[in-house]
Amino acid sequence: MPELPEVETTRAGLAPHLVGRRVVTATLRRPDLRWPIAAEIAGLLPGRRIEAVRRRAKYLLLDTAVGSALLHLGMSGSLRVLPADTPVRDHDHVDLALDSGQVLRFNDPRRFGCLLWQPRGEVHPLLAGLGPEPLPASGSARATVDGMDPEGGDVVAPTFSGDYLFALSRGRRVPVKSFLMDQKVVVGVGNIYVAEALFAAGISPLRAAGKVSRERYARLVEAVTTILAHAITRGGTTLRDFISPDGAPGYFEQELFAYGRGGEACRRCGRALKQALVGQRATVWCGHCQR
Ligand SMILES: [Zn+2]
Repeated sequence: MPELPEVETTRAGLAPHLVGRRVVTATLRRPDLRWPIAAEIAGLLPGRRIEAVRRRAKYLLLDTAVGSALLHLGMSGSLRVLPADTPVRDHDHVDLALDSGQVLRFNDPRRFGCLLWQPRGEVHPLLAGLGPEPLPASGSARATVDGMDPEGGDVVAPTFSGDYLFALSRGRRVPVKSFLMDQKVVVGVGNIYVAEALFAAGISPLRAAGKVSRERYARLVEAVTTILAHAITRGGTTLRDFISPDGAPGYFEQELFAYGRGGEACRRCGRALKQALVGQRATVWCGHCQR
């Protein structure tokens, strides 16, 4: 499943091809993905200029004067910018033809992705109530705002910081790992990145969120941002305008300390890594290095 770094890499790869371009036609080869494709995609988008390509959590927004196409890649979705005459393959469900002669093509074999619409000045229900971004904003100077378009009545999300996590977690008994994967706390820190960040910060994933100190939350935030930024850098150098994320990112695999390494030797102390289910998710940690 594409994680936040892959989605951000996708955004950065697409933006130079899309921003400033006008959508000429929208071709839908089926009426639905995970949900019905919004009527506005065929009804409102053609003729509109794409002003920005933004990311909020793992959603991509193509902003126009009347609203934004809201995309999610789901489990298996990919977006490519291709010459308009490129033959259609299986699972190429949507084409947005651009005035550049290229086409933005959405391929999604498993169809857990979506293509919805956010009217200008509104926040789509899927984006409402999301926590702050774990990384500085991307796509526009105002992308930190809570899914709002730049002209809307912006609600500024809090900054992702040690103080923020510390304050929010007081009295919470939920394991810190589950706390960090709650999209209302912070968006887009998936299972792989939370495992690595907790290892780097020396915090056991099982510890109650309310029992982690302010200092340790500051270290955790540092670890999350460093790891995500590194993954984006690596993804950005591996992939350019052709992006097809599927499965765990291979470019990251050799550098993992915890994720997927249950029973193997800790790279720091040599002891066997522990493994358990936390919040239904496979969880690996070092009982010696993480407390
Ligand atoms: Zn260890």
